[in-house]
Amino acid sequence: MRGVMLAAALGLGCGDAGAPSPPESAPGPTQRSTAHPELVEALRADLAAERHPGDGGGRAWLEASEPERPRAGESGRFVLVYEAGPEGVAVGGSVQLQVSPFWDWSTPQTADPGAPGYTEVSTEATGVELAPVTLDQQLLGIEVRGRALAEGERVRVVYGAGPAGARVDRYAERESPFFFAVDADGDGVRSFVPDSPTVDLRPGPAAQLRLHGPATARPGETLRFVVAVLDRFGNAGVPFEGRIELEPPAPGLEAPAAVELGAADAGRRSFRVVAAAPGIHRLRARGPDGLEAESPPLRVDAAGPRILWGDLHGHSVLSDGTGTPEDYYAYARDVAALDVAALTDHDHWGMPFLDRTPENWARIQAATRSFHEPGRFVTLHGYEWTSWIFGHRHVLFFGDEAALHSSIDEATDEPGELWSALRGSPALTFAHHSAGGPVATDWSIPPDPELEPVTEVVSVHGSSEALDAPRSIYSPVPGNFVRDVVARGYRLGFVGSGDGHDGHPGLTHLAAGAGGLAGILAAEPTRAAVLEALRARRCYATSGPRILLDVRLAGRPMGSVVPPGAHPLEVRVAAPVEIERVDLVTGAGVQSSLAVEGERDLHLQGETPELAPGEALYVRVVQRDGGAAWSSPFFVEAGAGATR
Ligand SMILES: [Zn+2]
Ligand SMILES: [Zn+2]
Repeated sequence: MRGVMLAAALGLGCGDAGAPSPPESAPGPTQRSTAHPELVEALRADLAAERHPGDGGGRAWLEASEPERPRAGESGRFVLVYEAGPEGVAVGGSVQLQVSPFWDWSTPQTADPGAPGYTEVSTEATGVELAPVTLDQQLLGIEVRGRALAEGERVRVVYGAGPAGARVDRYAERESPFFFAVDADGDGVRSFVPDSPTVDLRPGPAAQLRLHGPATARPGETLRFVVAVLDRFGNAGVPFEGRIELEPPAPGLEAPAAVELGAADAGRRSFRVVAAAPGIHRLRARGPDGLEAESPPLRVDAAGPRILWGDLHGHSVLSDGTGTPEDYYAYARDVAALDVAALTDHDHWGMPFLDRTPENWARIQAATRSFHEPGRFVTLHGYEWTSWIFGHRHVLFFGDEAALHSSIDEATDEPGELWSALRGSPALTFAHHSAGGPVATDWSIPPDPELEPVTEVVSVHGSSEALDAPRSIYSPVPGNFVRDVVARGYRLGFVGSGDGHDGHPGLTHLAAGAGGLAGILAAEPTRAAVLEALRARRCYATSGPRILLDVRLAGRPMGSVVPPGAHPLEVRVAAPVEIERVDLVTGAGVQSSLAVEGERDLHLQGETPELAPGEALYVRVVQRDGGAAWSSPFFVEAGAGATR
């Protein structure tokens, strides 16, 4: 720890004017240019299309899988059978095999027997000819010719029939689906066959050790830590038996000398640690075969704010991600040791659509309910409002009721309509990948001050804070960054969240190289306390690493409104790895940048220059490895002396 006069570093020429403006001759993209009205039209046309009674008819199953449970990232051979329903499939109609379009599954193809994904199609129905053709990535169409396929007649599909087999998802998961769709009359409109066959994918061998516990504790408190052996993609459930030795810092933490993992533990176990003495502590662990880990910093003190680790945005197999809702929450709690988690599958994106499958929406809510344990592990109902026009927002509910207002429905396809539908309920919305990515946020519509006090500045898509942020977002829209809209006067606090699609909430950055996490300064792990903290913007963002960050301006916590003038500023940081720099940022850009050498823990004190009404100020911490944290901004307002 050391004290540095930040004032000395303030405004001393290392400032940055913010995002560079694009050359005048080549106008950059705008939010509008990132919108995809054609996608919305196609989705609506599909909803409105008239369907033949035979569309989606019949049933399908997995007859054989070799190996029975393939390993993530490896290959398999799958024998799938489709059996026609009462309406059959007419000549010109088709049966389609849609392999999961997520994470590396081979595209089924019939052209090259030596290449991955080679697929053989056959039927015993005499007179029926099958014409298979690859229609798109992971999508094989099988047209029926000769005569119609009648009720009870079957099509046999061997996916991975060649020596290379078919490559499977790199993320381990239960119930990975093979979707079948049927266009019974050949009019180009298809429906999915109910109850897709699924296969379970198991993780690879042990490749890394992870150790996680809470962010903060009071002296004397007993804490839950988790040790997890993961494969190289961050998958849990790795077969592992052995002894993990623990090295607690002395004095500081009291922990067992070792944790013994048996076969039934599937590579993960929780254990108790006592926070014996105040300070910043890190626990080390060592297993066989060079497995080593160090926990992120734990701050033990009698008075500081409590920080909860949350991942408020992620997807499962029920929209466009990997793994079941139940496994999602189990990973968040038992591997990532999060305090707060939300599963936010897409309303009308991926397959099948959540807003058209009430049973899937009910399953997500049931999982969210069953994992919720106030005081220990907070889960939140939610979903993603996937507007390809105005930008994506995820919606979180802080009670036990949740209503899905879809972005595809005319009544709630604009942000204002969504907020009207949510008003009065304990809900919040979060714009995400707002500066670019798949679609940028239309910030010409100001965020609702009650329902959108916070924005997600970083996720697997990169950072939307500014162009000069580490791992800034792809396909950026200049002028559309969060820093730009804070400069415009929008009062937004910051969180990060994974937006993970890999079933690894809280640890999305392990496999993806980028991710996000929310540090929430809440008094206790309950839905009410988390909601109160987010409404007060008492929260911050990290790109995945569990950086402890406490920033006080004029003695007030991050996210506060402060009066104009010069104020004392205090910054405390404890990072998992060495810090490279600490930036002080306003809407106009980086005002000062303090270079740090060889330190993980900092305590900085200084005084700001005169802050004028309308200004906003926040702190950005950058680690040597590019990991970063962003405090929520402070907002300067005349007359803010008496109130927060
Ligand atoms: Zn999104
Ligand atoms: Zn998302």
